[in-house]
Amino acid sequence: MEILIVEDEKEIAQLINNCLTREGFECHIAYDGLSALEKAKIIQPDLIILDLMLPKLDGLEVCSQVRNLGMTKDPYILMLTAKGEEIDRVIGLSTGADDYLVKPFSPRELVARVRALLRRSMRHGGQAQINETRHFTLNLDEHTAIRQLDNGEEEKLDLTALEFNLLVAFVNYPNKVWTRTQLIDKLWGADFFGDERVVDTHIRRLRKKIEPNPAQPSFIKTVVGVGYKFEDN
Ligand code: CA
Repeated sequence: MEILIVEDEKEIAQLINNCLTREGFECHIAYDGLSALEKAKIIQPDLIILDLMLPKLDGLEVCSQVRNLGMTKDPYILMLTAKGEEIDRVIGLSTGADDYLVKPFSPRELVARVRALLRRSMRHGGQAQINETRHFTLNLDEHTAIRQLDNGEEEKLDLTALEFNLLVAFVNYPNKVWTRTQLIDKLWGADFFGDERVVDTHIRRLRKKIEPNPAQPSFIKTVVGVGYKFEDN
């Protein structure tokens, strides 16, 4: 995933760069509108983070020109604006921007927006297999799981391969009641030999990682006498 950061304030550009590089994105920086267009043509970024007030060519102009470049990948555009700064025009998003962020913003806010946009791009581009419910996004190619928090932020879940596969099974069949035997077949295959209560151990661990309150699970419910089911309504 390549990101082009267009921002004339060098410190802010560097800050965004550091924060997204840390998240594993490949970042490029342009400090004015004209070089932004040049770089966009060469890099063909997935996402452009575009400051509104720029020297040479402002953000709105860059935005509309990018849309007319006929790039192979039509990039997502996240507009940055200072409070009160022509914000109405940006909010209208008649500009061709996909989303906007008002300065000053926190690094977490930025990362959450970027992820949300790129997830959208993957869904449309079909580059990665994504399974999702309201609170969970699982990327089967990258083996990553993200939980959407109710405050709008996102949390990357740190799951073992087994926990990940368990969550995939649940997310693929919301509301399905699973017996322990079915889950074992799914996770270990038919040659599993052992106590099927092992499932309970893994469920308990997974709950600790994904449930806001593991003692009163809101996602992985126990179905007494049968097994488990996953709900995310
Ligand atoms: Ca600026």
